[in-house]
Amino acid sequence: MSKPSALPTVVRAQAMPEGTMAVPVVIVGGGSCGLTAGIALREAGLDCVVLERDATPTGSTALSSGFIPAAQTRLQKSLGIADTYELLVEDVMNKAHGQAPRPLVRAYVHAVTEAIDVLESKGLPFEIVDGFLYPGHSVLRMHTMPEKTGATFMTRLEKLAQQDGVDILTEALVTELWVDAQDRILGVGYRRPDGQLEHLGCQCLLLACNGFGGNPQMVSELLPEMVQAVFAGHQGNDGTAIVWGRQLGLGMADMDAYQGHGSWAMPHNALVTWAFIMEGGVQVNALGRRFNDETGGYSEAAVHVLAQPGAIAWNVFDGPLLELLRGFPDFRDAEAAGALRTASDVAGLAALIGCDEPTLQATLDEIAPGHTDSMGRTFKRALTAPYHAIKVTGALFHTQGGLDIDTEARVLRSDGTPMPNLFAAGGAARGVSGRGADGYMAGNGLLSAVGGGWLAAGVMASQLKQA
Ligand SMILES: Cc1cc2nc3c(=O)[nH]c(=O)nc-3n(C[C@H](O)[C@H](O)[C@H](O)COP(=O)(O)OP(=O)(O)OC[C@H]3O[C@@H](n4cnc5c(N)ncnc54)[C@H](O)[C@@H]3O)c2cc1C
Repeated sequence: MSKPSALPTVVRAQAMPEGTMAVPVVIVGGGSCGLTAGIALREAGLDCVVLERDATPTGSTALSSGFIPAAQTRLQKSLGIADTYELLVEDVMNKAHGQAPRPLVRAYVHAVTEAIDVLESKGLPFEIVDGFLYPGHSVLRMHTMPEKTGATFMTRLEKLAQQDGVDILTEALVTELWVDAQDRILGVGYRRPDGQLEHLGCQCLLLACNGFGGNPQMVSELLPEMVQAVFAGHQGNDGTAIVWGRQLGLGMADMDAYQGHGSWAMPHNALVTWAFIMEGGVQVNALGRRFNDETGGYSEAAVHVLAQPGAIAWNVFDGPLLELLRGFPDFRDAEAAGALRTASDVAGLAALIGCDEPTLQATLDEIAPGHTDSMGRTFKRALTAPYHAIKVTGALFHTQGGLDIDTEARVLRSDGTPMPNLFAAGGAARGVSGRGADGYMAGNGLLSAVGGGWLAAGVMASQLKQA
């Protein structure tokens, strides 16, 4: 489906080839960021072209669970969920240990609500994920499609974008950024399946081509702790925006930040949602011992799991948690692929993990209602036989560092001044998770993609209307 990458290049201070057509806005990448931006531009009455390398726009968004955090949406209000923009901003900031750019968090939080309300009014059937809260979230605010998948979100988003008149050109791998002597983006060059290089000019350019998680050299340079991790995102995360940014001398921020996940079923390559942890499940290593307070978050859990013998852990849970997990399509896929193991007692569980039974028994004895363990986790309930277990490893989902942007999604030069007509959002831009793995709050990825796409489109629209 995808084409081999050609090296991203900046073409400096040259006029675009004669006869190059131009549109008001070009968007590089047709994931949720690019398509949301396209829909918002059409709402504002502007033409835009989305250039997407794949034959169908999917991106990492289609691989995701599609859970988008938003506060004060019409849907939340209709369900009587009391939430505020300020509360979501505080939750993001707290999870990021105060290291996220607060003004940008605020801008995304406002934009994502507008985006969801408009997308819902245009027929996207959002629901709120119910039954548990992800670490860091104060209230129920994860907006999702009824199927709870990013794939169905992308299918609907693409259909809506097409209906609204967004031009989506697929199998168009953007390799060239054309920039004049004053740093104004003139347009792009992109390769078609037949190898031809074509060009398109624009008044504004939005980079919505995600991060560098699928580029092993960049991961080894910028995220050495995740070199061993499975990359679970889309192969288009090849660091193109970073390469262009380096060539142009642009600012970058939070380059060591990322979304990891400590619950990636192996060898089945499927996500086992963290809901089972929040409702009482645990992770043990191959020796039958727990190794951290899992409720801190699934992103940082990736690092803890990778540090265990063999870089694996076992998710351990019981009947009620199995029922909860079966509500998630990712889990049903993992179960169908054979990831779930069951043991009628502790001896059986120890046998399938391959650990010592007394050690595992001592671990399970610690899981008692009201008990706080030495790692600071307080349990609400004990786990009861039969026990279920899934072997998992730590995965890299996406990178959170990227091009530095201001609160209007304008890309900043390394001296902090904004580029005249270059914008970035979603995984191509810096995120809102501070540093490392543990600042990532569930949903920060799509908050930046959907909120950022909406925000950038609004700013580009007003800039173009004033011109
Ligand atoms: C397994 C998994 C589960 C996740 N679950 C969640 C979740 O529930 N909630 C959440 O908030 N986040 C989640 N995330 C993270 C989330 O998926 C990403 O943060 C988000 O999808 C980024 O959106 P985007 O539009 O920036 O990038 P993408 O969706 O990846 O879209 C980028 C697009 O750009 C295209 N592209 C790249 N380079 C070029 C080029 N040179 N020319 C043309 N096209 C190009 C790609 O093909 C792709 O279609 C998850 C990630 C994974 C991997």
